[in-house]
Amino acid sequence: MKPIDRFVTNLLGNPVVSTLSRQDFLQLTGRGLAVGALGTALASCDKKPDASSTSASTASTPSGPVPKLPATSPPAEVPADSTKPIELEQIKAKTEQQEGPTPTPLAEDQRVGYALVGLGHLTLNQILPAFGGCTKSKVVALVSGSPEKMQKVAAQYGIKESSCYSYADYDKLKDNKEVQAIYIVLPNGMHAEYTIRGAQAGKHILCEKPMANSAQECQAMIDACKKANRKLMIAYRIQYEPHNKMVREMIQTEKFGKVKSIIANNGQNSDNPKHWRFNKALAGGGSLPDVGLYCLNTIRFVLAEEPTEVMAYIHSTPNDPRFKEVEEQVNWLMKFPSGVQASCATSYGHHDEKSYRVLADTGWIKMDPAFPYTGLQLETSQAQGEENQIIQHKIADKDHFATEMDHFSECILDNKIPFTPGEEGLQDQKIMEAIYQSAREGKPVKLPPVAKKDAFRGPKPTV
Ligand code: NAD
Repeated sequence: MKPIDRFVTNLLGNPVVSTLSRQDFLQLTGRGLAVGALGTALASCDKKPDASSTSASTASTPSGPVPKLPATSPPAEVPADSTKPIELEQIKAKTEQQEGPTPTPLAEDQRVGYALVGLGHLTLNQILPAFGGCTKSKVVALVSGSPEKMQKVAAQYGIKESSCYSYADYDKLKDNKEVQAIYIVLPNGMHAEYTIRGAQAGKHILCEKPMANSAQECQAMIDACKKANRKLMIAYRIQYEPHNKMVREMIQTEKFGKVKSIIANNGQNSDNPKHWRFNKALAGGGSLPDVGLYCLNTIRFVLAEEPTEVMAYIHSTPNDPRFKEVEEQVNWLMKFPSGVQASCATSYGHHDEKSYRVLADTGWIKMDPAFPYTGLQLETSQAQGEENQIIQHKIADKDHFATEMDHFSECILDNKIPFTPGEEGLQDQKIMEAIYQSAREGKPVKLPPVAKKDAFRGPKPTV
C-alpha cells in the first residue's frame, strides 16, 4: 500500500480507497479539510517513507509505518437534547437530495420491547430484520409452535431462552416486564383471539392486516383493548412509507386539481393449496382480505374519505384446488362522497401486479409498483400548455416495518392514539363485507356516509 492509500484508509476508517490520486483525495476530503494541517500531512505523504518518517509521529504495523494524525473534531452540531439529531457538516449542495436527519435512536433500555407471535414468512424475512433500523423499538420475546425454529431465531437475534413461549404459554407474557407490546403475525383467523388475550395480559397490540375475519371480531378486539386500557394498532405499513404519503399530500393539496378516478390492482399468482391462505376459517377469504385490501386501504388513505357504495364481481377458476374455500379474483367499484370513483382488482391467479393510478383535472399520479416492501416508483404527469410534464419522483425507501413499529412505540411512550388504530381495520372489514355482499347479490351495496375526513385515524405520525 502506498503511503497516501494508507493515509486515506486511516482517515476515513474505511479501507475502500486502493488507488487514489492526490487530486481525487483532495476532492474526496474537500470540505475545508484539505487545507492547513492536512495539506502538510499530505505533502509528507507524497514523500517516500524512510527511516526518519517512522520516528515518534508514526506507529508501526506489519504492513509498514502508519502516520499519526492530529485529532480533528468533525464540524458537527451535537445538541445536548438526546431527542435532537446530530447535525453533520454539509457535504452536498443544498439543491441536491439530502440524506435527511441522522437517526436519533433511543437508548436500548428506553425502547419499547416487542414480543413477536408467529415465526412465518413476514416475521423472519421482514419484521425481525427491520428492528435493526428501528430507533424506538426492540424485539425481546418470541411466541411460536416450533421450539427448534424459535431457538434458532432467538440465538440469531439475542433473545433470552426465558423469553421464548409456546402458544400454550402465550398468557405467561403477562409476567414478562420487558414486553410492552405484542406484534401479532399469525393467520388472519387467529388475530382476534391473540389480540384479546394479549390485551388481557396487559400488553399493547400491533396486529397484522387484515385485522380479523369479520367486523364482529374487529369490534371485540377494539372493546378488549379499551377495557384493558391498552393501545391497538393495525399494521398498515403503506400509510407510514414516504411514496404513498406523498401521493396523499398531492391529492389533499389538489396539486393536479380534483381527483376524478382511481384504478388500482393488487394481484399475484399464489400457490400451495395446503397453506392457510386457502383455508376459509384461517384466512377469512381469498385474494380480497390478503392483497386486495391494499387497494381498498390505500385509496381510503390517499383520499382521506370513505366510500358510500360498492359494486363487485367475484370469479374463481372451476376445479382449481386452491379455490375450493376462498375466492380467486375480485373486481369492485367504490363511490366516494367527493365524486371520485375507484375501480379495483385483486387476484391470486395472475402474475404479480401491484399498482394504482390517480386521474385528476390537470394531471395523473402513477404508483407502479405501489405495494411491495421496497422499490416503489412514483410518477406524475401534469398538463403544461402544449406539453405534458412527466416527473419521476426519486424518493428514498424507508423500511415500512421499522417506521410503522416506531410509530406504535412512540404512541406507547407518549400516550398517543395510533394513526391506524383498530377502528381503521374495522372500517376496512365493513367495506370488504359489503364487497362480498354485492358480489353475492349481484347489485350495489350502500355504506353509511361518513362526513368527517380521516374519520378512523389518529393524529398524523411525526415522521
Ligand atoms: P406464514 O404462514 O408465513 O406465517 C404464519 C405463522 O403462523 C407461521 O409461523 C405458522 O407456523 C404460524 N401458525 C400458528 N398457528 C397456525 C395455524 N393454525 N395454521 C397455520 N399457521 C399457524 O404467514 P405470513 O405471510 O407471515 O402472514 C402472517 C400474517 O401477516 C397474516 O395476517 C398476513 O395477512 C400478514 N401479512 C402482512 C404483510 C404486510 O405487508 N403487512 C405481508 C405478509 C403477510
